[in-house]
Parts: sequence; structure tokens; C-alpha cells
Amino acid sequence: MGTIGRKIVGMDLNELIDLLNEALADEWLAVYQYWVGAKIAEGRMRPNIVKELEEHQNDELKHANMLADRIVQLGGTPLLHPKDLLEKSGCGYKTPSNSNTVELLKQNIEGEQCAIMAYKKILDKIIGKDSITMNMIRKIMEDEVEHEQDLEDLLNDINLSK
Ligand code: FE
Ligand code: FE
Ligand code: MG
Repeated sequence: MGTIGRKIVGMDLNELIDLLNEALADEWLAVYQYWVGAKIAEGRMRPNIVKELEEHQNDELKHANMLADRIVQLGGTPLLHPKDLLEKSGCGYKTPSNSNTVELLKQNIEGEQCAIMAYKKILDKIIGKDSITMNMIRKIMEDEVEHEQDLEDLLNDINLSK
């Protein structure tokens, strides 16, 4: 990759790559959690919720792509083995052992809230040091904020319809 492109990063590259790999792990686990949740969902507003979970699954995969491309650009290697995902992930994986749409929504809201906080932490660390990664994280964060709201809105609708 570009030598100068790397030189303009004003922080330790390995530290930055580690932060991005942690986010990459979170994203992949989120993809699976949304994917399997959409398969097993049952209960109130199932069609609407399945549609939303599938949309978010696609968004999280896009985020994983953005992170992996940036990791490679910085001279790093995206996590190579699935077991690394659980090991490195900051937000972890919440097993959807209850397939009720309300429980799925609650779990996924927690996941989104963890993601927002995790990206905020990364942003605070890289502000003024790497404007390209900053810009990417801001875009991802905008999606996560929207995700949280979408899921909270659905949960609210369910509560109102009781
Ligand atoms: Fe994401
Ligand atoms: Fe999200
Ligand atoms: Mg949405």
C-alpha cells in the first residue's frame, strides 16, 4: 500500500490496526447475530422485525468490509480465524436463545449501544491523528445510531400495541 498514505497517520499503526480489528470482530459477530435472529424470530410484528434485522445484517457486513479494507491499507491483516472474532470482540456475542421478537430486539439494542460506545472510544483516540479512518468511523457510527433508533422504535411500537 501507499507509503505516504501510512506516514501521514499520526499514531502508532499497530495500535490503530488493533483497534480496527476489535471493531471488525464486533461487526462480524453482529452480522451473525442479526442473520440467525432473522431466521428464528417468532412473535409480535415478526415480518417487520425480520426485515429490519436483515437490513442491519447487510449494514454490519458493509462495516466489516470498510474496516478490513482500511486495515489492509494501513499494512495490517484482518483477523484470519473465526475463533479470533470472539477473542478480540469488545461487545461480544449475545446468543439469541429466546426467539421472541421482543427479546431479540432487546439483545440487538444492547449490541448497537455497545457498538456506538466502542466507535466513540475509537474516534476519541484518533481525532486529529488520522482523518481518513476518522471519516470512516463517523460514517459507521451514523449507521449504528440509526440502528439503535430503528430497533427502539420497533420495541416501542410493540409496547404500544399491547
Ligand atoms: Fe456495524
Ligand atoms: Fe449496527
Ligand atoms: Mg434500520
